[in-house]
Amino acid sequence: MTAIAADKSDVRSNVLVVGGGMAGLCAAISAKQSGASKVILVEKGGFLGGHSILSGSGYWIGGTKIQKKAGIDDSLEINWQDSLERGLKLNRFLKRDTGVARLVYEQGPKDLDWLESLGVKFTDQPAQAIGNRKRVHYFAPGYRVGSPQAIKALQAKAESLGVEIILNTNLVSLITESEKRNARVIGAILENNKGNKYAIYADHGVILATGGFANGKEMVEKYHPYLKGVKSHGSKLNVGEGIKAATALGANVIVEHYGFGMNMLFVGTHSNVSIGQPLVEVPLIIVNKNGQRFQDETRGYLAVNHKMVENKFKLAYWILDSKAVKKYKDTSLKIFFEKQKVDKFDNLKDLAKAEGINYQNLEKTVKEYNEDVLKGKDRYQNRTKLLDTIDKGPYYAFECEPQIYTSYSGLEINKKAQVMTTAGTPIPGLYAAGDVTGHLAYQAGLGGGGISGLVMATVYGRIAGAEAAK
Ligand SMILES: Cc1cc2nc3c(=O)[nH]c(=O)nc-3n(C[C@H](O)[C@H](O)[C@H](O)COP(=O)(O)OP(=O)(O)OC[C@H]3O[C@@H](n4cnc5c(N)ncnc54)[C@H](O)[C@@H]3O)c2cc1C
Repeated sequence: MTAIAADKSDVRSNVLVVGGGMAGLCAAISAKQSGASKVILVEKGGFLGGHSILSGSGYWIGGTKIQKKAGIDDSLEINWQDSLERGLKLNRFLKRDTGVARLVYEQGPKDLDWLESLGVKFTDQPAQAIGNRKRVHYFAPGYRVGSPQAIKALQAKAESLGVEIILNTNLVSLITESEKRNARVIGAILENNKGNKYAIYADHGVILATGGFANGKEMVEKYHPYLKGVKSHGSKLNVGEGIKAATALGANVIVEHYGFGMNMLFVGTHSNVSIGQPLVEVPLIIVNKNGQRFQDETRGYLAVNHKMVENKFKLAYWILDSKAVKKYKDTSLKIFFEKQKVDKFDNLKDLAKAEGINYQNLEKTVKEYNEDVLKGKDRYQNRTKLLDTIDKGPYYAFECEPQIYTSYSGLEINKKAQVMTTAGTPIPGLYAAGDVTGHLAYQAGLGGGGISGLVMATVYGRIAGAEAAK
């Protein structure tokens, strides 16, 4: 037992889910559908959604019925191989059993159908991200705006199934059957926003779905010291309390060392809005204050931001010309122009002066880049995609900075979503799903964000719920 004793007001349940994002909602619904009679979901915030509601809404998976209908030739195996190859290119070695990650690829397309059966709607034209096929299935009505709709639908479904949702309630610690090593988890101590502590017992299991630690300064510094001082764009509530509670019982944390171990988005310095997708869709370049490019932009925001942190560049500037803007203003750049502060200039000299970028270098960068585009060979960054000249004014500049938004390190789980100890055994009665777990793609050596966080949360949320209900 933990130090805090249970009293008469304590609550009993079959399954207790902690955290009300995608993973928690999927877990609670799945537990109910699998026969648990009393399922309680507690959420720290005043509403459900966590990072899931803030997300880009892209359920990124290959081999779905929606792709087939849209004429996209893809499959689970094509998707898997594509990610493995990208992992190999990044010299990623396979750290452990790939089975846990592989299950996301196997279940992801089926769980898209499951989500539809729960009332979540998707758009019918998957979009391109990193990878060799169009695999981004946006929650309807689309990029960003679909996530609140998906959470709303899942919450409605959970409530209709009788899941009891308790808001403004924080996980303090887990309760075990005894003090013995590897004792069964039988509940949790919680604290509501009035400071009252109480216990909820769960005779079948507790599921941790508390998200990552994007805003957990202490954990960022502990696991990823290079990122000390980098701002966070994540939810203020995601500070890693689920990880802390589980490690107090001997749970293993998988620390992701690739890059800097956390995902960083570009955030507009004047808008505080994050954006990343145009990098893989629009022919633009990114320069530092010195007017120099420093990464193949088409490798995406994560790769570009890692380079920035590595080189201690605080600010970056996306530079576009009017050809690109004209072509993409109603598609990939629509939300960019709607939400960001984008400056427009007649020429690069004015642009450099207004933004405080070294003009001589910028002029040289653009000149060399344009020459390289015509030759089809990017001499500095080896970029091979989206090569188009930047030569038609007016020119556009967007000032941004990297901000942490997702942690990749987290609890180790097995294929049943059980939390594993440092000794490699499951902790009885304790399950985890979503960002509170170590990012599965990285555990398996997959490349370029090989698994979508939303798919991972759905697949292992569903598994955790079904397993805990047994
Ligand atoms: C800006 C942004 C864009 C993204 N875009 C995409 C995308 O397009 N596609 C994609 O696949 N992934 C995307 N992701 C990642 C994706 O959103 C996450 O991987 C996914 O939402 C994780 O779901 P989750 O349920 O594990 O965590 P969350 O959705 O964060 O839910 C965790 C919940 O637990 C609650 N909580 C935290 N601590 C406690 C506690 N101590 N007690 C009780 N409750 C607690 C939180 O308040 C929160 O509601 C994006 C993330 C961000 C931030």
